[in-house]
Amino acid sequence: MSPFEYAPAPESRAVVDIASSYGLYIGGQFVEATGGAPFKTVNPATEEVLAEVSEASADDVDVAVKAARTAYTRVWSRMSGADRGKYLFRIARILQERAREFAVLETLDNGKPIKEARDVDLPLAAAHFFYHAGWADKLDHASLGPNPRPLGVVGQIVPWNFPLLMLAWKIAPALACGNTVVIKPAETTPLTALLFASVCEQAELPPGVVNIVTGAGATGQAIVDHPGIDKLAFTGSTAVGKMIARSIAGTRKKATLELGGKAANIIFDDAPIDQAVEGIVNGIFFNQGHVCCAGSRILVQESIAEELDHRLKRRLATLRVGDPMDKNTDVGAINSRKQLDRIEEMVAVGEAEGAERWDSGCALPTNGFWFRPTVFSGVSQTHRIAQEEIFGPVVSVLTFRTPAEAVAKANNTPYGLSAGIWTEKGSRILWMADQLRAGVVWANTFNKFDPTSPFGGYKESGYGREGGRHGLEAYVTSAGPYGRASEAARPQGGSR
Ligand code: NDP
Repeated sequence: MSPFEYAPAPESRAVVDIASSYGLYIGGQFVEATGGAPFKTVNPATEEVLAEVSEASADDVDVAVKAARTAYTRVWSRMSGADRGKYLFRIARILQERAREFAVLETLDNGKPIKEARDVDLPLAAAHFFYHAGWADKLDHASLGPNPRPLGVVGQIVPWNFPLLMLAWKIAPALACGNTVVIKPAETTPLTALLFASVCEQAELPPGVVNIVTGAGATGQAIVDHPGIDKLAFTGSTAVGKMIARSIAGTRKKATLELGGKAANIIFDDAPIDQAVEGIVNGIFFNQGHVCCAGSRILVQESIAEELDHRLKRRLATLRVGDPMDKNTDVGAINSRKQLDRIEEMVAVGEAEGAERWDSGCALPTNGFWFRPTVFSGVSQTHRIAQEEIFGPVVSVLTFRTPAEAVAKANNTPYGLSAGIWTEKGSRILWMADQLRAGVVWANTFNKFDPTSPFGGYKESGYGREGGRHGLEAYVTSAGPYGRASEAARPQGGSR
């Protein structure tokens, strides 16, 4: 029970115009799809249908790839880096100016709390465009090898957990390096990507530089399989990532795969415990736990396990779960019925395996998809809830005695995307960070993102990095003008 009663503080949705149906954004205009029946996108907090969205067929994807190739050959790869940068700066500024509109739409389509869409997704999306705008005319100085050149047409497939932010992570570096893109948002969250088309128009981006095709897995597969794609950038599940890797094996396509995670958030007995509790909350209950790098396993030193358990549950009882459009809401709706089923299935598995389940017992709305913040204690390494990504507001608590044991347990999953360490000893942080097989290690904080910092995984969390100078490497080839450069890159003049 919260110590405070909060009056409702609803954000207005009047700032957003949602069309009843959307086509595909190809070659700088919306066109009708030739694919199957349109599908509906719903507000997961109310189950209200928001709009009908087109399903792009392989033929539609082909048209989009051709539009991207034409824009690449005729315009984008010939433009100076400084000029490309100007477009990216424009996009960044427009996103800032229209931040409220995008944040409201993201919350309606995704179910995340408006305060997160407003304070995290939008500022970071704009920051990614600003950051990469700055790189566009400096690629020669980024240690990318001699004469770095674009790859050509990039196929990009993004998930539903951060729809606009993942779009920004993908599009900004691709465009900065001189590539053009065909991007597919997830089936359940296409609306902010479709609204982004209007940003491209407002920025007067040349037609075909960004093409947005909607659809389900088959549309994604059509992008993966298209022979005109030079590089793929995918964020999503490890299962689909593996399928993509198999599909492109033996082709000349490059790929970056940002896949699942099962991060350890490691709490030592000298950690500032209340801050660690906040870090745990931010680590796993941010965005309903729909976060690839979520701190979904707490490893707590045995001597403080009881105290942490008590403080964590006391804190979780104060989380406000409910209407994502309310500015006071901490935990919003689960993104889809399918994802709610998956969470419920995994929680049932945890109980059947003998772990002890606790939830905050808060009231939940009657319509929509909801799950209470949940803690499993008495979890052992072999439990599925300690090994598999649940992708929901569910955390498993394990204990350890020594730093070496913490490292062994933290590394004992198929994944390696992120980790957190809470201790007051700097030397221990450095030692641990060196031992942990995780692409990102946070110390005395969690889930902090910055476009200047590379992000990516080890093992089944995928390969390649996004963000920072390292992220640019995935979007260029660097073997001189006619060396290893892709076919697509050959005929063009100076790309910077
Ligand atoms: P997917 O990996 O299926 O979806 C990610 C993206 O890939 C979506 O745009 C999806 O389209 C697309 N896609 C699906 N199948 C194919 C294919 N064969 N070829 C190319 N693209 C494809 O994740 P789900 O949304 O199904 O979620 C399933 C589980 O994956 C979750 O429970 C969660 O555990 C995990 N997940 C992990 C993410 C991460 O960042 N680590 C992100 C999302 C999910 P569409 O949505 O239209 O089907």
